[in-house]
Amino acid sequence: MYKHLFGPVPSRRLGMSLGIDLIPKKVCSLNCVYCEVGKTTNLTIERLEYVKYDSVIAELDKFMSDDPKIDYITFSGSGEPTLNSKIGAVLQFIKKNYPTIKTAILTNGTLLYDKKLRKELLDADVVLPSLDAASEAMFKKIDRPSKKLNIKTYIQGLVALRKEYKGEIWLEIFLLKGYNDSKKELQLLKEAILKIKPDSVQLNTLDRPGTKQGLIPLTKNEMQAIIDFWELPNVEIIASPEERSSIESYSGDIETAILETIARRPCTLDDLHNFLGIHINEINKYLGKLEASGKIETVALDRGVFYELKHK
Ligand code: SF4
Repeated sequence: MYKHLFGPVPSRRLGMSLGIDLIPKKVCSLNCVYCEVGKTTNLTIERLEYVKYDSVIAELDKFMSDDPKIDYITFSGSGEPTLNSKIGAVLQFIKKNYPTIKTAILTNGTLLYDKKLRKELLDADVVLPSLDAASEAMFKKIDRPSKKLNIKTYIQGLVALRKEYKGEIWLEIFLLKGYNDSKKELQLLKEAILKIKPDSVQLNTLDRPGTKQGLIPLTKNEMQAIIDFWELPNVEIIASPEERSSIESYSGDIETAILETIARRPCTLDDLHNFLGIHINEINKYLGKLEASGKIETVALDRGVFYELKHK
């Protein structure tokens, strides 16, 4: 059982992708209302070796010793990966020892104002930062950041990355009804995108319960209307769970294990992670598909969101 690796999972844009998690749950510089991992318990911008370099490298070497067929190693997981002060060293290790495998960084992008961090990421093949707001008020409302962050510096960091980094930047924007979908916020976001100049922009919305109750996703038509309003090149909508399941392979064993577990009693995401020993991000993908296909449903209780078999 690996502690810091998960997958590999097939993804439309990254091919066969092995996840690498450098952060314990749940250390992050943001506490986004829509976060699928859970509430941030350590809201910080302090970069530390939260997960030890040596233990990550030992797992990576063990995994790679079987010569697996993977296209990308993707830095993502239970919090903000750039908070790990050794992310640059891990990237360099992969580049040196496994040069045929590409690397992708899924980051909230808030720490990119730090020149040293930007330098560390130069070795990555793709950086996928997120940006959900372009006004200070909406940044605070949707992303609930560390007090040490502000939207101006955040956007400046993304602009600086674009200037210094030669790889691809795929910017992700998470949209929620009644939050960042007003004309005013969308116009500000458009101006930020024009400054950042990412290679592509991906629009995402809620398909798993967030940390706040009552969040409403945008429909596909509403997201398309935003694309039409912006009139920007290379903006696309991230596929819904139903659409994703047809393009990504899926382990029937994991699905059965999840269904059998919640048939015994309703479980939270954390319960499933603890019982089955599968990474939260991976379980979330299965829960998305199972909910979309009407096999399970969610119930909000005091201890959090529970999954149970859907009562017909
Ligand atoms: S969605 Fe990402 S950036 Fe936001 S709180 Fe969760 S882990 Fe942090």
